[in-house]
Amino acid sequence: MPTAIEEVDKLLELSKIISISLRDTTGNKTGLWRTVKPVIDYAKCKNRGLKCGICRKFCPEPAILVDENGKVTIDYDHCKGCGVCSEECPLKAIEMRPDVETEE
Ligand code: SF4
Ligand code: SF4
Repeated sequence: MPTAIEEVDKLLELSKIISISLRDTTGNKTGLWRTVKPVIDYAKCKNRGLKCGICRKFCPEPAILVDENGKVTIDYDHCKGCGVCSEECPLKAIEMRPDVETEE
């Protein structure tokens, strides 16, 4: 049974083979589409952003940012709440929660 870290490394290798295109959709603010929003648990992510970043690779929008320290954050102006990042995170560090602000 592979460890979670081994799963991360395996997915990273796969992501080199499967090219996920990062379209420039920065002009399209899709944040108002959301009914649920991703929330990162930094205790689980452990700021592996620079080494991991799998959530960013799979996000269909330019909504996941990684700073110079490897910290991963969500740009809620562009996150449409699809949940792909939550599904793909091998460490289960992203939880989808009701987005009460956009339900109004
Ligand atoms: S919920 Fe979808 S759009 Fe939002 S950050 Fe995750 S993958 Fe990107
Ligand atoms: S949230 Fe998950 S997929 Fe994203 S960098 Fe952290 S561990 Fe990797």
